[in-house]
Amino acid sequence: MGFENMTEEQAAQAAQALRKKLNKWADEYYTYDSPSVEDSVYDQAYQQLVDLEKAFPQIITPDSPTQKVGDRTLPGFTKVPHDIPMLSLGDVFSIDELKAFADRLSNADEVPFDYNCELKIDGLAISLRYENGRLVQGSTRGNGQIGEDITRNLKTIKSIPQKLSRPITIEVRGECYMPKSSFVKLNQQRQTQGVAPFANPRNAAAGSLRQLNPRVTAHRELSTFMYNVANYDDLQADTQSGLLVELKELGFTINPDYQVAHTMTEIDQYVEKYTQKRDQLAYGIDGIVIKVNSLPLQQSLGATVKVPRWAIAYKFPPEEAQTVVRDIEWTV
Ligand code: NAD
Repeated sequence: MGFENMTEEQAAQAAQALRKKLNKWADEYYTYDSPSVEDSVYDQAYQQLVDLEKAFPQIITPDSPTQKVGDRTLPGFTKVPHDIPMLSLGDVFSIDELKAFADRLSNADEVPFDYNCELKIDGLAISLRYENGRLVQGSTRGNGQIGEDITRNLKTIKSIPQKLSRPITIEVRGECYMPKSSFVKLNQQRQTQGVAPFANPRNAAAGSLRQLNPRVTAHRELSTFMYNVANYDDLQADTQSGLLVELKELGFTINPDYQVAHTMTEIDQYVEKYTQKRDQLAYGIDGIVIKVNSLPLQQSLGATVKVPRWAIAYKFPPEEAQTVVRDIEWTV
């Protein structure tokens, strides 16, 4: 049945059924790092819920997956409140939708201000807190407001500096990921040991990081790309691309494949380039993120309860269903 023929009650029932399904999948994915369906299946059901809630805004509930970030934190970890929430990203699935996003911001055909194009790293979001240049706390995104304290685990990752080049107090955010080759190696070991393999590098990274014993994490080959900060007070950068340069100077690893785009054509070319290059990268990406480059403009655009208004993720079309076995054959 199309939305237009539904009564409000039918829409509310359909939305509840979708939420139940999405919440179960989210629990498997975020809480237990063990998804039972492909991301594209989740994304499709999520989009149905978005459309339904758009047609019947009165049926939106505050606990709807469209209104919240991530999911529960695991018991066993100390909880870390995020003073500045860690958000998700709005997503689009076509260049036309990407253009519509830019047009909405600019109200014009041409992109009036610059965007920074970045790869969307398929890992999990982390936040690192430094006091006077020293790493004091590291956490997961959790539900965006409260994450899990994984400081000891993060300290085992070589790309994360324990000490910055300047003694500043700052909270830096980015992505922790497992390179494809490490994922293949880890799954081969797990199969030899008779342990269930991880479904994909993202889940392998999350499962490796959210360990109560940091020695387990230390044996997993994890890396990071940092791309954001909770506040800019102690930084000089006034653009997103400048922020990446400054983060690098501070000692962080940033993804070098970013690019400032001045027009929609340049954004389009960037998307095309990395759609082609995606399989050759040493780590998984599931899309492209475009961000308004000016940091003051980012701040004035602000965010909804779930996503910033100054950025959007273009998600790659789903690959054919990838089994773990195929992943191993494909990367070795
Ligand atoms: P998301 O992963 O689609 O996008 C937001 C995240 O992108 C950010 O939080 C950040 O961690 C990450 N990111 C990577 N590179 C970035 C960059 N350069 N700049 C900014 N952020 C960057 O959103 P989400 O809320 O984390 O997760 C939703 C997605 O998770 C769904 O679209 C779905 O694909 C997947 N999911 C799958 C299942 C399943 O059962 N398979 C269940 C729940 C969610």
